[in-house]
Amino acid sequence: MSSSEYFEFYVPSKDWGNAEATAARGNTITFADGTEALCGISGLWNASLGYGNVAIAEAINEANLNAATLPIFRRGSAYSREAATRLLEFVLPHEYSSVFYATSGSSALDAVVKLSRQFHDINSNPKRRRIVSFTASYHGVTMGAMAVTGSYLFQDVYQVDQRLNIKIPYDDLAALDIVMKRFGPEIAAVIMEPVLGSGALPVPQDIVDAVYAYRESEGFLIVADEVATGFHRTGPRFASHDWIQPDVLVLSKALTNGTCAASALLLGDRVVDAFDQAQQVFWHGETQAGSPQSCAAIVATLDEIERLDIATSAARVGRRLAAFVSGLESLSPRVKGFGRGSFRAVQLFDDAGELIGTDKVFELVSECRRRGAVVQPSPGAVQFVPALNYPDAELDVLFDRIQSVVTDYLAGQFA
Ligand code: PMP
Repeated sequence: MSSSEYFEFYVPSKDWGNAEATAARGNTITFADGTEALCGISGLWNASLGYGNVAIAEAINEANLNAATLPIFRRGSAYSREAATRLLEFVLPHEYSSVFYATSGSSALDAVVKLSRQFHDINSNPKRRRIVSFTASYHGVTMGAMAVTGSYLFQDVYQVDQRLNIKIPYDDLAALDIVMKRFGPEIAAVIMEPVLGSGALPVPQDIVDAVYAYRESEGFLIVADEVATGFHRTGPRFASHDWIQPDVLVLSKALTNGTCAASALLLGDRVVDAFDQAQQVFWHGETQAGSPQSCAAIVATLDEIERLDIATSAARVGRRLAAFVSGLESLSPRVKGFGRGSFRAVQLFDDAGELIGTDKVFELVSECRRRGAVVQPSPGAVQFVPALNYPDAELDVLFDRIQSVVTDYLAGQFA
């Protein structure tokens, strides 16, 4: 894929014309031209409870009226305290001891890079500076987040300093072994998305096991980037609940159901104790981090996850999506499904057996949109990331619309 093709991911598709979104409610988006579509991607994977959740909106409004600009920088706030307490309870049985707020997934990943290096500096291991991540990973757009991102995002053009970053394929155990043998004593952290967003690719268990085994011998930090996979997206509350507890858990997106610019780092004992004992400041205080509005939204989102029994409905949506993806695969060997829970994708191959290019992906995404279904483009694939409380009847309509496009593509309609 050339860099100019990749750029297409970041500009609105011309085919969407002036169909700008004007409203969204539940799972339906209304556009300026009067058309409507069912959302198959929960906003940008963040509105996991659907659009226009009243309880969350009211909680934000209350915080706006009561404490709009109360910052947590150099002091605490009842809002940030409550959200932290609730998050630490919600993430059990994994026991983290502290919550650190930031304002986006990207800034949280910048914080991870800084925190990991400072942790080893405190522990008199200043040589541990390297960060290991996966080649197909996505961790964000700020300089540190881009440095650990494996996908090509013009890092060379932006002069992102990647000298201390090592990227390995997410499914290549031999590559992990080579990196650990060569650089083990210099590694500060290994960052893993449990399911890589660029194609809904689950990290194989043998890789996860090997990373944990190397942590035992090397002492680096393990960071789970659950910006996308958190809050039942892949089934369990957190995908890393299937792992031994990571040292740092990164959350954003569904954390506020997409209503506020918010993210959080949940820090394990090992990290918190090191900073406490050294009495060192971690220099990452963002003005808007842990704002009353975002913390009120976090608390209300956790309440809504419970009230709506998202654990049960996410399992239902995940089962239905799995069946839908298998149904698409059974249409033709040119369709290959990936993913877990309610985070899935299908790769499509042309009749010569080649993975479809970016133009074709966008053509299919636009055609889905014309037929009333919003899906997500990714390299050679379309992704499905529906809200976790999607009613069955609406899922039927969403799936029919998407399937009609895939069927027509396979029959040669968009050749
Ligand atoms: N990490 C992961 C796994 C993500 O999916 C994303 C966003 N797609 C980010 C980090 C960056 O988050 P943000 O867009 O909020 O900066």
